[in-house]
Amino acid sequence: MSGHRELLARLRDLRAHGSAPLSAMVRLVASELASEVCSIYVQRPGDILELTATEGLNRDAIGRTRLRVGEGIVGLCAATGTIMNLPDAQNHPAFAYRPETGEEPFASLLAVPVRRSGRTLGVLVVQNRTPRNFSEPEVDDLETVAMLLAETLAGSGATDGSPKGLADTVPRLFTGAPLMGGIAVGNIVLLRSARPVVRMIAEDLPAEQARLDQAVARMQRGLDDLFADVPSNGRTADVNASREVLDAYRLVASDAGWLRRVAEVIRGGMTAEAAVQRVAGELHDRMRRISDVYLRERLADMEDLANRLLTALLGEPPRAPVPEGAILLARRLGPAELLDWHARGIAGVAVEEASPAGHAAILARALGIPAIGSLRGMLDSAEQGDCAVVDGDEGQFILRPEAEVRLAYIRALDARNAKYAELATWRGRPAVTADGIGLQLMLNIGLSLELPQLARTGADGIGLFRTEIAMLARGSVADVAEQTAIYARVLDEADGKPVVFRTLDLGADKLLPGTIIEEENPAMGWRSLRVGLDRPALLRRQLRALLLAAGGRELSVMFPMVATVAEFTAAKALLLAEAKRVRPVPQSLHIGTMLEVPALMWQLPQLMQTADFISLGSNDLIQFLFAADRGTPSLYDRYDFLSQPVLDMIEQLVLAAKPARVPISICGEAASRPLEALVLAALGVTTLSMPASAVLPIKAMFAQVDMRAFRSVLASIRRGEGFGLREALATWAREQAIIS
Ligand code: PEP
Ligand code: MG
Repeated sequence: MSGHRELLARLRDLRAHGSAPLSAMVRLVASELASEVCSIYVQRPGDILELTATEGLNRDAIGRTRLRVGEGIVGLCAATGTIMNLPDAQNHPAFAYRPETGEEPFASLLAVPVRRSGRTLGVLVVQNRTPRNFSEPEVDDLETVAMLLAETLAGSGATDGSPKGLADTVPRLFTGAPLMGGIAVGNIVLLRSARPVVRMIAEDLPAEQARLDQAVARMQRGLDDLFADVPSNGRTADVNASREVLDAYRLVASDAGWLRRVAEVIRGGMTAEAAVQRVAGELHDRMRRISDVYLRERLADMEDLANRLLTALLGEPPRAPVPEGAILLARRLGPAELLDWHARGIAGVAVEEASPAGHAAILARALGIPAIGSLRGMLDSAEQGDCAVVDGDEGQFILRPEAEVRLAYIRALDARNAKYAELATWRGRPAVTADGIGLQLMLNIGLSLELPQLARTGADGIGLFRTEIAMLARGSVADVAEQTAIYARVLDEADGKPVVFRTLDLGADKLLPGTIIEEENPAMGWRSLRVGLDRPALLRRQLRALLLAAGGRELSVMFPMVATVAEFTAAKALLLAEAKRVRPVPQSLHIGTMLEVPALMWQLPQLMQTADFISLGSNDLIQFLFAADRGTPSLYDRYDFLSQPVLDMIEQLVLAAKPARVPISICGEAASRPLEALVLAALGVTTLSMPASAVLPIKAMFAQVDMRAFRSVLASIRRGEGFGLREALATWAREQAIIS
């Protein structure tokens, strides 16, 4: 470490005499690191890396040797943002020979990207004749120099390859992943990270450590205030209720691991802010290499925290007021940041790196902010104050839209607001058809922060509480006490309305961090109840928590992915055994199954004898019925719920359930679509559970339908149309002005 400090001290001396010229820097690094070559490649407009300074290669090559990003080892380093540590660079498949450099004698090569705020500004390279891997301290030293170099280059006009100019006054369309539906039209505010770090090299190490400790304490206090002191404009409940996500975030905030790493960098001779920035950069690099979304999310939380820590150290960057209807643009967005900006009044969010399963997305949905993620390259084209449209339904972000496009979106937004206002009048009314057939419209939710939707939609209860979502948000399965608290809160807020808890449906696309299961077909793999039955302790803990949460109230539990009656009875036996141990006993205990696996259709007589209720999980059922992966976009509308096989199946199910008096409901997405809801009700499935946004439109739609008339229309369409059901149904519904 003392060699490291010496290097830093010399670099400080160099910078003390004005901003260090790059030529002096390469000379110093070559001598301090005992390397025969040290070179700096700077990224220029057009994604070009230009040799700008070198010690050890031919000086004539300066300004002449140019590589595209992605070309050669230097280009690869810039493109991937990863360190290249090669004992024999010239035999590496990516090696690009440039005779003017005279680099033939040098075998080993270490290339480190020069990055700042997530952007690559250049590449720093050292080379040696001896073929060998560079040691960890050498890599560490070069990374430190790269960080200092980043500050120099940032002020020198080096570019990240995204020249801003004429091209940036024209409209641009970016398509990403929808995180939360809805429309926002407004001016852009850019999420700025903390103030730039100016002082890099420490004079007094204990003082720097003390500054860090104080800043950590300040940051923690700031988080406490942020999470507790939420705005009182009617959204308080949302924010308070987002406990799962925020608790997970707090866990990361107090994680000693990354703070230890910051302290270690300070001991190496850097200021507290430079150390935090360095660790944030390391986290960013790790994040780029991790494909597991939940791990990435945890790292994103840490990055968010590192930014807060920088702010605690350097003071707030200047905060301009947020214009009404503003759209926030960010490279990444942590949950605490989103809360902050929500309180400041943003209307939409566009993020370069965010996935629908991420924490920010979960919060955006809970707060109702239209949001899009995975918008690569968006930030490079956007400027503060530009006009933009977030179309969260289509996952489209339109930058600097033409006036006509902007007006069309504003009109659509106004129409939507008017429609919502009209729909809101349905909140307190019962769900009933024009000819008096009553329906139960329930909610599908998974986080307690969605509970206020019960009051907002006037839903009859919760038809599907996906218990695994809260566990995914916190990153692990909670213990019995914590689970009990989560479930009790749901029952408290439901205030006597029915709630159906589904046991953990983990696996397939819902993996907890650290769960690495190599399966060829995870959707049909070791998931859901299969895990629960093979790991009964896990399932028992959850069942116990549910019983404790009920505390003598009514309790409904549903098992997912049941394929055989034997599986259902095994799960039911676990619940009944647990129920014998928990006091007070629930007022009544209903034990049901989802019908997601078609095989259950051939076990109906036995199933009806043992299940208290059955809920159709149309999302999985359709994928298994048609053997079509529900996550493959190109298969999305290839097979139709409104087709003879599905309707025949539902009819048979209803027929078998009737004499057994087993209630049939549906909790898959199909229930939220008007035509599907209509057909389901006509077939006798009158309990429909759906996402909150669908409840009022579906209620309003049913009120216009004469169900008796519709049943005969449906029967004649089914006799005549075979696979063209949807078209015929839609035509009828349009004629009746039931759908537009
Ligand atoms: C379903 O499969 O229809 C369902 C409701 O479960 P999930 O979407 O959570 O798999
Ligand atoms: Mg399912």
